[in-house]
Amino acid sequence: MTEIFTGSFTQQEPIPEEGIAAALEVLRHGRLHRYNTAPGEVSHTALLEEEFADLTGARFCLAVASGGYAMSTALRAVGVGSGDKVLSNAFTLAPVPGAIASVGAVPVFVGVTEDLTIDLKDLEAKLGQAKVLLLSHMRGHICDMDRLMTICDAAGLTVIEDCAHTMGAAWNGLPSGRHGVVGCYSCQTYKHVNSGEGGFLVTDDENVAARSVILSGSYMLYERHRAAPGPEVFERVKYVTPNISGRMDNLRASILRPQLRLLAEQVGRWNARYLVVEQGLQGTPGLRLTTRPEAERYVGSSLQFLLLDWPLAKVKEVLRRCAGRGVELKWFGAAEPVAFTSRYDSWRYAPSEAMPATDRILAGLVDMRLPLTFSPDDCAQIARIIRAEVSAVHQSDAPEL
Ligand SMILES: *Cc1c(COP(=O)(O)O)cnc(C)c1O
Repeated sequence: MTEIFTGSFTQQEPIPEEGIAAALEVLRHGRLHRYNTAPGEVSHTALLEEEFADLTGARFCLAVASGGYAMSTALRAVGVGSGDKVLSNAFTLAPVPGAIASVGAVPVFVGVTEDLTIDLKDLEAKLGQAKVLLLSHMRGHICDMDRLMTICDAAGLTVIEDCAHTMGAAWNGLPSGRHGVVGCYSCQTYKHVNSGEGGFLVTDDENVAARSVILSGSYMLYERHRAAPGPEVFERVKYVTPNISGRMDNLRASILRPQLRLLAEQVGRWNARYLVVEQGLQGTPGLRLTTRPEAERYVGSSLQFLLLDWPLAKVKEVLRRCAGRGVELKWFGAAEPVAFTSRYDSWRYAPSEAMPATDRILAGLVDMRLPLTFSPDDCAQIARIIRAEVSAVHQSDAPEL
């Protein structure tokens, strides 16, 4: 009998009971705004920032309204403004070039390798064009960060990291987001912690931290932050930095704090699932898995494979057959984007020269989420279904394919 998978690729786990209890308490006392505190009270948001700073080893942390907001704030805080060019990944999610556009700057796209990391050769070729790189660790793939930082430091390029898919990951033991000047994270439902919407930025740079706090809408209440620089640093920036409100609130922070405590455990559970799918797909004819370097500690919350140089009709046939068996795969090669955009040529407000090497990768790139609601057995079944359908389509030489 043909097996059919019945799980949902978009179903998350519930919020931990401890988070639900804390959220109810916030709802009952009504002090949701981060600066609305009773005498002697420290807000959940301030504590959350302190805890995330500890987790990443950063001196400073700011919790904000979204990952996209964290990135636009980081860009503003390092001085990016109207008309400036910013290097970024040709393959990422729409909020990344969107953050660049939101400050009036212009993205310059850098290609992707077969291992789905930024193409460092292409980066080197484009170094002269910008002073800032907004580096996206798209789908959790981390490039050789030692090499990237050597290249960027030599060229005087400021690096901001988009760690939407690498919260809990590391390169050579250093948490993702701690190589560049600023690390940005998302707490949106499909990331590694879930408050619906939300984000963080972390930095060791006191001026960037103080500007970010003011930008986020701290009014003159910045002294209520705990993971922020001292008042003398704010004195330098408080009258010359605009308020562009995008604060985190205490309700979301109360939900997130217990999730941060569970993060390491969740990473282990994600990776157990990832390994099951990866092993199940290994050796499938025509299917290429990404290789993951020893130095990369990744979070397997999603998995990608390449049907490299396949005729597009055959890729589509694989997707159709898998969908028919309950395995919803995403494809980055579709001519028209469906549900999301992740390719440079979908962002037509930021025209780019053609990137044939990147087009070749994206044409064969297939992606799936691995929510923690899937059991390892579910993951084994998903791999069996993909393996069977990829093998069948790969072998077939029907002319209509
Ligand atoms: C989700 C995501 C973001 C940030 O998204 P928000 O919805 O703004 O929190 C940034 N980069 C990537 C690659 C993402 O997937």
